[in-house]
Amino acid sequence: METLRETLVALVDLQRLEDELRDLRVAKAELEAMRRDNAEALAGFDAMLAAQVERIDETKTFYAEKEQEIHETEDNTKRSRARLTHITNQRELTALNKELDAQRRQIQQRNEELLKLMEELDAAEADRQKKQDARQTLQSQMVALEAELAGRVEVREGRAAEQMKRRAEIRAVLDRQLVARFDRIAKARDGVGVADVVDGTCSGCKIQVPPQQFIRLQRMESIEQCPSCVRILVYFTGVDGLSAGGPEVAAQSAE
Ligand SMILES: [Zn+2]
Repeated sequence: METLRETLVALVDLQRLEDELRDLRVAKAELEAMRRDNAEALAGFDAMLAAQVERIDETKTFYAEKEQEIHETEDNTKRSRARLTHITNQRELTALNKELDAQRRQIQQRNEELLKLMEELDAAEADRQKKQDARQTLQSQMVALEAELAGRVEVREGRAAEQMKRRAEIRAVLDRQLVARFDRIAKARDGVGVADVVDGTCSGCKIQVPPQQFIRLQRMESIEQCPSCVRILVYFTGVDGLSAGGPEVAAQSAE
């Protein structure tokens, strides 16, 4: 490093690269969690739908059984009627009429049951269809959200190799002890070893820096650390002015 200002520029670059690379790690973890959560939610939905289909199938089986019972009773009725011609006395006729009555009532009752079952089936089927549609909508939304996040991860991943290369370059030219200090602070402070100063306040811990230190920070002639969180403090606005076009620009943007 030629000058202290160059060191400050390098420190800010280093922190920004660390931020970018951390954002990539966070986005990747988010994507993984999102895919896992979505798959779980869909599996839950599918299990619910499968249980519903099973109940509908059971009702259909029950319906078929009732229908079969009606057919059997109708066959019995036919046989009973056939016996009418062989009847020889009133007692037999009364008994046969009683039998036919019972069969008619049974058929009527079964038909009422069938009607009720049919209504139940229609309602269950409509509900199943509604849930099926909801599942499709949910899945489409999930796919869209996953794709959006995956796209952002991809963009970041595309930049990561270059960012890691630049990070290594900056670390190589910076003073080794300063890099070690940066690493120590970053490790203890959520990966942020270098903090900006905004309106006289450390952006790392949001605590005001002493006015004298703020003046020194604006001069960009020393390595300063926040008295509260010990992060290396850099006046980013001034540093950005330096890399944009020299001290004059820095002076302007500092105003
Ligand atoms: Zn601080």
